[in-house]
Amino acid sequence: MGSDTTSITYTENLQKFLRLSQNGSIIAEYIWVDADGGVRSKSRTLPEKAEGYTPNDLPIWNFDGSSTGQAPNGDSDVYLKPVAIFPDPFRGNPNILILSECWNADGTPNKFNHRHECAKLMAAHAETEPWFGLEQEYTLLDLNDRPYGWPKNGFPAAQGPYYCGVGAGKVVQRDIVEAHYKCCMFAGVKISGTNAEVMPAQWEFQVGPCEGIEMGDHLWLARFLLHRVAEEFGAKVSFDPKPIPGEWNGAGLHSNFSTKDMRDEGGMKAIEAAIKKLEGRHAEHIAVYGEGNEKRLTGRHETGAIDSFTYGVANRGASIRIPRECAAKGCGYFEDRRPASNADPYQITGIMMETCFGAVSE
Ligand code: ADP
Ligand code: MN
Ligand code: MN
Ligand code: MN
Repeated sequence: MGSDTTSITYTENLQKFLRLSQNGSIIAEYIWVDADGGVRSKSRTLPEKAEGYTPNDLPIWNFDGSSTGQAPNGDSDVYLKPVAIFPDPFRGNPNILILSECWNADGTPNKFNHRHECAKLMAAHAETEPWFGLEQEYTLLDLNDRPYGWPKNGFPAAQGPYYCGVGAGKVVQRDIVEAHYKCCMFAGVKISGTNAEVMPAQWEFQVGPCEGIEMGDHLWLARFLLHRVAEEFGAKVSFDPKPIPGEWNGAGLHSNFSTKDMRDEGGMKAIEAAIKKLEGRHAEHIAVYGEGNEKRLTGRHETGAIDSFTYGVANRGASIRIPRECAAKGCGYFEDRRPASNADPYQITGIMMETCFGAVSE
């Protein structure tokens, strides 16, 4: 760890406290998405229940929305409505992590609660059996916001050796990546893989396939776990889509998608039909595919240009890529390469359903 870090957790010392009895109580960590695409959380004590909790029998809680940019001072209470429960890899069983939706006091969903709309779309089109797999790219920064391991004044050698790199000088902070992988597995997050990325200090993990609303839930939980693990190692996680300008790859959230029709024999017809619909709504998709994405979608560094919609088999410079293997089989899935690393997975998966299968009537 760098000498300029200000937070160090003495994990070994912590162990003896973590082993203490909780005397019939559990610690529940309520987690929510904030106004800046980050996560917030706070803890409370609940009685231990032998059969465990479901979201419906957990208490609705609240927080001060004026401190998170999610509510005005005069009417600051925002309600936390539990929607998904995961085992807590930090405190261990029987403690839990609770992903929550944010609701205003007047009974409307909070402005930053994109899950609510997404869940309606997923329910309306559930018969299509939508599967998603998201590839979350991110950059690890030191506490001075410099990519980890980069020289203080100057740059590392040009890109090439870092992607899927092995060895000192090629990758940094692998401990964070490994710890995060295990945390996801313990929590039941459907993490499907991980790799070092093209820019040094950049990594990726994949979550999926997940069906419907589960995609957003699992990706947000995976983001929470990553921030939380990196906190212990004194590193910051950046989801900036172009953390370093110039000849350095940006960071995306490639979104792989299929329905039952696409996965079945002859599914290429359904894939092509979906791509046609996506073509007609390029601007609407870009609008929810992340802040600052114009810096990343330049048509260079394995991206398509932001103002044009393109697709192709095995084409990493297109908006949409059909994997070679799927083209050969005539069915499978496609990859939307446009979303930025900081996009909200509820918005991505929601608009995918809306574009391909229609909006939900109120
Ligand atoms: P890339 O070659 O673009 O780097 P990755 O291996 O990183 O691809 O990610 C592929 C993602 O696609 C994984 O998250 C995986 O779960 C997902 N995926 C695989 N099959 C399907 C499918 N039929 N429908 C949706 N997603 C899928
Ligand atoms: Mn990938
Ligand atoms: Mn990648
Ligand atoms: Mn990809």
